Amino acid sequence: MAQISVRQATKIYKGGVKAVDNVDLSIENKEFMVLVGPSGCGKSTTLRMIAGLEEITDGKIWIGNRLVNDVPAKDRDIAMVFQNYALYPHMSVFENMSFGLRLRKYPKHEIIRRVQEATEILGIKHLLDRRPRQLSGGERQRVALGRAIVRKPQAFLFDEPLSNLDAKLRVQMRTEIHKLRLRLQTTFVYVTHDQTEAMTLGDKIAVMKDGKLQQCTDPMTIYDKPINKFVASFIGSPPINLMTGRIIKREKKYYFDEGRFQVKLVEDMYTPISAYEGKEIIFGIRAEDIYDKLFVGEASQENTIRAVCEVVEPMGSEVYLYLNSGKNTFVARVGAHNRPEVNRDMDLVLDMSKVHFFDAQTEKTIV
Ligand code: ADP
Repeated sequence: MAQISVRQATKIYKGGVKAVDNVDLSIENKEFMVLVGPSGCGKSTTLRMIAGLEEITDGKIWIGNRLVNDVPAKDRDIAMVFQNYALYPHMSVFENMSFGLRLRKYPKHEIIRRVQEATEILGIKHLLDRRPRQLSGGERQRVALGRAIVRKPQAFLFDEPLSNLDAKLRVQMRTEIHKLRLRLQTTFVYVTHDQTEAMTLGDKIAVMKDGKLQQCTDPMTIYDKPINKFVASFIGSPPINLMTGRIIKREKKYYFDEGRFQVKLVEDMYTPISAYEGKEIIFGIRAEDIYDKLFVGEASQENTIRAVCEVVEPMGSEVYLYLNSGKNTFVARVGAHNRPEVNRDMDLVLDMSKVHFFDAQTEKTIV
């Protein structure tokens, strides 16, 4: 168990690629931190610098109260789990799992005890004599986890551990990793490009883009209060609807004018938005904050807009409506009972207390 502190870390690869740019991260003891972002944003490099697999060009990394910049990977007391499992093909599951302990000259009875404990946790006791090629993808990933667990490290570092699994197994293993972390009570740093994994697993999520940390906080704050347009659109499925338009003022009230529709802002937003009167702005609304007017009470129908429903996608528990205002396309996520006719106008109500506005130039959140 340890806290991990990354201070102004920068990584410039040979050839000049700045993969990580002045990143600060504080990972508390027993915290599950997820690094998330699109491919190439520098999340693996950040993790590999913590692991000691990549030299750090500038900055400092602390594990516990030890500055580890010059400590080799094997002496950092952390365990890493990779996407490709990195199992030794010629060794049995038992040999794979115990390899690290044997290298460190642990007594035999202790090795057996730890492997047994890990195989029980992971439900792979019956696989101990098999070779990796005799295992399914999910089983291999469990063995890779087991090999990390037996070390009882100060922290686990996971690099896209579920990416090679099919969709169903990925969801199943996600729950298992969740249970594992509750049981192990250790610090985790977990890299993924999958926002659902980030939202469901992380105590905190660090969103990265182009080597830079964008925002680092708990999942619901990231979702409800994204710091900029990038974070807003990266986190959430379907992605947040974004439309450009203008802020207008009429009879002391502020409206967002999309071109085809106008909606009134809630008063809480007036102060920050007043500077944008007459200016172009980016409006963001999540799919679940748009309702079919037929299913909304009279009292909350103030901000009704009209759009053509182009596609209706029933998902079972809910329905996605793909809409077109005549200027912008957007998605609404509504209850399973909503079945509007396709290619007809329909009335929709926007929950204006939930919307976001971003500066059209800087893309930073205004409200
Ligand atoms: P992510 O994990 O977010 O996909 P990476 O940390 O792997 O991103 O890579 C960040 C950037 O650094 C990318 O532009 C990638 O091409 C580059 N990069 C990664 N590894 C190396 C390397 N060994 N040499 C040069 N450039 C690299």
